[in-house]
Parts: sequence; structure tokens; C-alpha cells
Amino acid sequence: MVAERTRRGTDTGRGTGHWNLELRIQLRRPMPPPSKYDAFLQSEPTERRGKSPPYTLRSYVDITCPHCNNICAEILKEHVKKTKSTHCLQHLRECAEYKGSVPCAPAKKKSELQLLREQVARQHKEVLAAIWMSQGGEPPPPLDQNDLELRLKRKREESEEFKNALGRISEHDLHAKFLRRALHPDKATADHADLDVVRNGLGL
Ligand SMILES: [Zn+2]
Repeated sequence: MVAERTRRGTDTGRGTGHWNLELRIQLRRPMPPPSKYDAFLQSEPTERRGKSPPYTLRSYVDITCPHCNNICAEILKEHVKKTKSTHCLQHLRECAEYKGSVPCAPAKKKSELQLLREQVARQHKEVLAAIWMSQGGEPPPPLDQNDLELRLKRKREESEEFKNALGRISEHDLHAKFLRRALHPDKATADHADLDVVRNGLGL
């Protein structure tokens, strides 16, 4: 009721300031700064079929442009406070009669969902990089999960091959050690010259 009376006062421009001031003092609220779009008149709310599902009757307010005198927006009564300025600004950008300048439309903002998706993707990449580094991987970090899995598989295969080769070498060394000892002049009973020949032949 209070809002209603306030708005009517604003619309007619009759004794507006006085009426508002009195109300504000009564309600002990600070005076709001004058709206940039006060000149865009608001009609009384009227019941109309809703513009979106379920298309039931809703209460709409018409906004009239002070420059071209056309109704430039129909806003749900409960949205007027929050969205009137946006509608007015949008209209001014295309109003044929308005000669002033209007700030350009800001670059399209990314939706919160989009930002969240990007954040999750970034964190996911960081985790992949951390896993790769923890496995002794060298930069660059993996591009994605597939890349990481491929790299880890390759690394496992390489280390498998390495272990096998190492195993074969140690085995060879064991034999060599055994032979070196067996063919040592201090241990072996055979002729020293013969032992030398055999040892040299075996590369011991
Ligand atoms: Zn206009």
C-alpha cells in the first residue's frame, strides 16, 4: 500500500517530494537517491496473461519512454524495482527519439555455470599434472586424462623393460663373477697359462 501511494505520487509528479519525505520520516528510512529513469513513467499494474508458462494471469506494469512516448517495456509488477533500469537502458540504445549517449552494452558476461565449469576443468588439469609429476613425469603436463593414462602406461612398460634388462645384466654378472672366481689362478688347479687364455676368451 505504501509503495503504491509512493509510486502514484511519483507518476503524477504532484507534491512528490513532500509526500515521499513525510513517508520516509514515518518509516525512518533514508531517502533513496533519485532513479536515473524516473522520467520513464510507470502505469498502474494491470492483469494480463503471463508471457511465459503457465501463462496464468499476472500483474504487469507498462513503462513509457519519455523521448518517443512509446511503451518500451512490460514488466511483472514484482520485477519492476529490480529490472526497470535495465529495460530503460536497453530501450535508450534503440530509441529513435533519444539524442543522448548511452553506455555500450557490456561484453556478454559468462554464466556462473560456465565459470564453474572452467574452474573444475582447471582443477582437473592441475590434478592430472600433479599425478604425472608424482610418477616422475617430465613437463609438459598431460593434456587430459587419456593423455595421462597413455603416458603412465608407456612409463610402466618402459620401467618393465628396464627391470627385465637389469635382471638379465645382473644374471650375466653373476655368471661372470662365478666364472672369474672359478678361473682365478689362486682357486683353479689348471695351468695358469690355460686359465689366462680361457679368461681372456670370455672377456673376464
Ligand atoms: Zn523511446
